[in-house]
Amino acid sequence: MQANGISEEELFSFLSLKKGEDSNYHHVLSSMCTVPHPVAVRAHQMFIEANLGDPGLFPGTASIEELLVERLGALFHHPKAGGYATSGGTESNLQALRIFAKMKGSRRPNVVVPESAHFSFEKACDILSLEMRTVPSDETFRMDVDALQERMDKNTCCVVAVAGTTEYGVVDPVKAVSEIAHDAHVPLHVDAAFGGLVIPFLDHEIPFDFALPGVSSVAVDPHKMGMSTIPCGSLLVREPSWFGHLNVETPYLTVKQECTLAGTRSGGAVVGAFAVLEYLGMSGMKAVVDGCMKNTRRLIEGMETYGYRRAVTPDLNVATFEAGTVPPGWRVSRTRRGHMRTIMMPHVTRDVIEEFLQDIGEMDA
Ligand SMILES: *Cc1c(COP(=O)(O)O)cnc(C)c1O
Repeated sequence: MQANGISEEELFSFLSLKKGEDSNYHHVLSSMCTVPHPVAVRAHQMFIEANLGDPGLFPGTASIEELLVERLGALFHHPKAGGYATSGGTESNLQALRIFAKMKGSRRPNVVVPESAHFSFEKACDILSLEMRTVPSDETFRMDVDALQERMDKNTCCVVAVAGTTEYGVVDPVKAVSEIAHDAHVPLHVDAAFGGLVIPFLDHEIPFDFALPGVSSVAVDPHKMGMSTIPCGSLLVREPSWFGHLNVETPYLTVKQECTLAGTRSGGAVVGAFAVLEYLGMSGMKAVVDGCMKNTRRLIEGMETYGYRRAVTPDLNVATFEAGTVPPGWRVSRTRRGHMRTIMMPHVTRDVIEEFLQDIGEMDA
């Protein structure tokens, strides 16, 4: 630090310089985060100092967190689900595995995840000392259910299915996985970090949530398709009492026990997440998802007219292609298999898609 501070003007001119180095999302097709909804920003600012790690001081904020969990539980066909707002999908996945490993109480517990699972499971298994077993994908990049059962044994504490894979935007056959897990009395955690706020608003039904009896927990991230400010994820579990396995005593806080991973937690982002759901309602969210899906279909159709084949037909607003070079100025990403990967988040409007297609077309010429 400098001995004396600098002027506010000098400080903010430095910060705007740095802000200018950031991307503004306009040409970003590679991100699952997006520009937050204006009501999320306003709500976040209003609750900027609220710390959910000490909820007795912020009972208003804490009750909004409960409402957020209630809304998401209802959306996932289980209004009485337990839950809390996490920092994102990584924490939600870690905490789910932590609960089920404790409930199992085995000395060498293992977790069975699809090959397509997000890398957060690798972190979680490392931290929790769990053996991670992977189930191969079929040719559509969905979990090959026939291979699931042989990976499970008496030490399996949890099976994971992904509802909206990060790389290809496909949903695992959660219904079939749920039946297998249910019959084996093994909890099924559904990672719907991305898909949880897309699937319920699609025109056709894809079963993935608590309506399936085998589903024990669901992770969903408002800071992705929920258009909240960062950080806001959430973990929902079928039985609220399961969080008791994670409780520790918190002697000097306003509450006596805490089951969250983080101590201090952003209240602002949580209120922001709630604000968006409340403001848009089912119809507003459906309109957003409809738009993103329409743009996804348009991009796939446009790319294919240029001869770039889709890697798979996605369930969600993620499009992947057999394509090499990318026009300058655009941000796309690559899957582990080398496909070009794009995500049609709300900031990727129809105009942006047309602009991208035009640039791809010119590159080709
Ligand atoms: C984004 C994502 C995660 C990780 O979420 P973070 O908020 O980045 O921690 C986990 N699982 C899936 C399927 C995701 O798409």
